[in-house]
Amino acid sequence: MHEVSVVRNIFKALEEAYPKRYERIVKVEIEAGLLSNIQPILIQNAFEALKTEETHLSDVEVEVKLLPILAYCTDCQNNFEVKYHRFVCTCGKPSSKIVQGEELQISKIDFKQDKSH
Ligand SMILES: [Zn+2]
Repeated sequence: MHEVSVVRNIFKALEEAYPKRYERIVKVEIEAGLLSNIQPILIQNAFEALKTEETHLSDVEVEVKLLPILAYCTDCQNNFEVKYHRFVCTCGKPSSKIVQGEELQISKIDFKQDKSH
C-alpha cells in the first residue's frame, strides 16, 4: 500500500528534522494535492497501523488537507482551478501548467509544551 510508505517517510523525515523534539510531536498536518493520489482515509489507516509498531506515536494525531489542482493561464495571467480533469481556463484557453496539486508536504507540526521549564 502506497500510503504506508508515505506515512513512514513523513515520520522518518520528522525524526531527522527534530531529533530532540520528535517525541513531543502531538499533531502533524499534511497537505496533499489532488494529483498526488493521496487518500486521506488511507493515510489515517496507514497511520493507525504504524502506531501499533511505534508506540511513542500513540498520542499523535495526523490531519490530511487536500489541495485543489491549480493551473496557470498565460492569457489571463491567473491561476484557475482544474475540476474533473478539465485543464481549461474560464476564458476557454487550455493550459497544463500545473502550479498546485502535485505536492505532498508537511504543513504544520504541533509540539507538546514542555511544562518543566
Ligand atoms: Zn484564461
